[in-house]
Amino acid sequence: MSHSVIEKPLARANAPFDVVALREEFPVLSREVHGKPLVYLDNAATSQTPRQVIEVFGDYYSRYNANIHRGLHTLADEATAAFEGARHRVKAFLNAEDARQVIFTRGTTEAINLVAQSWGRSQLAAGDEVLISMLEHHSNIVPWQLLAAERGFTIKVIPVDSQGALDMTAYRALLSERTKLVAVNHVSNALGTINPVKEMATLAHQYGALILIDGAQAAPHLKVDVQAIDADFYAFSGHKVYGPTGVGVLYGKKSLLDAMPPWQGGGEMIKTVSFDLGTTYAEIPHKFEAGTPAIAEVIALGRAIEWMESVGVGAIGAWEGVLLDHATQAVSQIEGLRILGTAPHKAGVLSFVVEGAHSQDIGLLIDQLGVAIRTGHHCAQPLLHHFGVDATCRASFAAYNTLEEVDSFIEALQRVIGMVR
Ligand SMILES: *Cc1c(COP(=O)(O)O)cnc(C)c1O
Repeated sequence: MSHSVIEKPLARANAPFDVVALREEFPVLSREVHGKPLVYLDNAATSQTPRQVIEVFGDYYSRYNANIHRGLHTLADEATAAFEGARHRVKAFLNAEDARQVIFTRGTTEAINLVAQSWGRSQLAAGDEVLISMLEHHSNIVPWQLLAAERGFTIKVIPVDSQGALDMTAYRALLSERTKLVAVNHVSNALGTINPVKEMATLAHQYGALILIDGAQAAPHLKVDVQAIDADFYAFSGHKVYGPTGVGVLYGKKSLLDAMPPWQGGGEMIKTVSFDLGTTYAEIPHKFEAGTPAIAEVIALGRAIEWMESVGVGAIGAWEGVLLDHATQAVSQIEGLRILGTAPHKAGVLSFVVEGAHSQDIGLLIDQLGVAIRTGHHCAQPLLHHFGVDATCRASFAAYNTLEEVDSFIEALQRVIGMVR
């Protein structure tokens, strides 16, 4: 596989953070929308993709497209090596103990459903409790509701304070011997709140409960260390870390994954299949990877992580902090604008509503000025209802955004507000 792009390290030997140079690596950022330069501030929904990641697809399909693990020919060996190379890269990215604890899924949603359907279905029963939080994305609510309807356990919700931070006193009070699982996000996609997941894990473990962390919004912004957190399960998506759609990761503690029953059945996840003797299952990670995976996407995810690490995850987070502070200060000057989510620890997300202006209208009109923000419930309806709104506008930042873009966004926002009020 020496000819594959994945082998060539990205050249950026500890260069200082240079957002102008970095932007050049993202082809889409030079396009126009409605005749205006694109200002892309919808990164919490999906981040844009650098050329080095896009190239993986051309390279894979023009050089070594083959099904993995089963082949005994050169292309299959090369594809398998690149695929498993990506697994090792994710292992290092999360500081997992062992690459076998990295399960490739379609995304965060599928990773959480895997835990619910495999671990949850075999472990949870009436009388048990699962704690989730008011901050959760629907993908960390609905899988538990579906399973609760079947298994009869109870879901309890950790409340948030007026700033959008989790109420840790309430969390402590909700924990009990009945708690079997705490399922929370590391960073809220709707408000940007960074949750104290390490402390939450310690508390959960004192009651013998497990903790599943939805890291979809953390992996793009923070250095994640699953061992330091002592996470039992950790999930994230490729398309929010400068990688492709259709791929994500579930990390799990080895003892848990080993003991969990398979979820989906099919090829790749078996040891032997027999009509008479029954079927035996493969070891992790393959036990949870039935069928042909998204091979090119997995390899591209490995490349995206390599790209992030070449820039520096810490440097990315620090730059986004600068952008967030600048944007927060500027929008605070706008009359009738209310920021939702003012917790002391926040990552890259600015959610707000404007008195006398529908969020939907702001989103549509600001798009006409080339600015992409998200409006709506951000897959967190319970949270928005808690704050008494149906929708917000959300600007969210990535490594390649600039202070000038934030200024363009503010200017556009003021124009739009003037138009709709
Ligand atoms: C985006 C997101 C998800 C869902 O991720 P998918 O890639 O759509 O599966 C879950 N949780 C949070 C916090 C998210 O931001």
